[in-house]
Amino acid sequence: MRRFFVAGNWKMNETVAEAETLVKALLPELEKYESVDKAVCPSYLAVPAVAGLCKGSSLKVGAQNLFWEESGAFTAEVAPKMVAELCDYVIVGHSERRKYFGETDETVNRRLKAALGAGLLVIVCVGETLEENEAGQTEAVVTRQLRQGLADITPEQADSITIAYEPVWAIGTGRAATPEDANHVHKDVIRPLLVEMFGKERAESMRIQYGGSIKPNNAAELFAMSDIDGGLVGGASLKADSFVEIIKAAAMVTIIIEESEA
Ligand code: PEP
Repeated sequence: MRRFFVAGNWKMNETVAEAETLVKALLPELEKYESVDKAVCPSYLAVPAVAGLCKGSSLKVGAQNLFWEESGAFTAEVAPKMVAELCDYVIVGHSERRKYFGETDETVNRRLKAALGAGLLVIVCVGETLEENEAGQTEAVVTRQLRQGLADITPEQADSITIAYEPVWAIGTGRAATPEDANHVHKDVIRPLLVEMFGKERAESMRIQYGGSIKPNNAAELFAMSDIDGGLVGGASLKADSFVEIIKAAAMVTIIIEESEA
């Protein structure tokens, strides 16, 4: 049975106090949608407060990045075991990390291995820029990012990985990919590559989120596509009502799928 996974990436937003207010507004609402896996990813500083509030609830907590070394002289970095103390999830390879902070496929791979080693569930982000898209390079870029980012990962480890396909031109622009275009990349590019790397059964159970301007008004049509297994949500996760609406859309699509399969 398909189970959607929707995660909110708060990016560099929400002070600790604001994060607490937001999560307190989310918790009673989100508990209604138990058929959907859900997480929020606050800034590191807000993680302890948010993790404390979410304890015992179905809302999981993720970090937005981590470093691959275990400890030592790496000023301002956060080690895998530090993240794992408080978080279930971590995001690696977000396009903003790639664009502004020198993230490469190789460093994504190092972070991924370290995160898995610490027992974290990992959201690995891939996606092409506007120039790459317009040059017809989407497939080549996503394939390279996945092959290199997921290098040396075993099929067993793949169970702990979610892929987030986030076309860079759709992030924060209000211009989401069409459900058909996004699903094409999920179904015809990412899924077959996962099959090749991890085998059919595992690849089919791995979740591929779409990310890029998901809003309450487009979430259901995206989630209704065959290979879109949830979403990574930026801007719309910063408002309790819009994030709840997106989770609700995933729950509604779950019911529709269940009914069609019954
Ligand atoms: C993101 O940051 O991962 C994202 C998808 O942002 P937005 O929803 O604002 O486009």
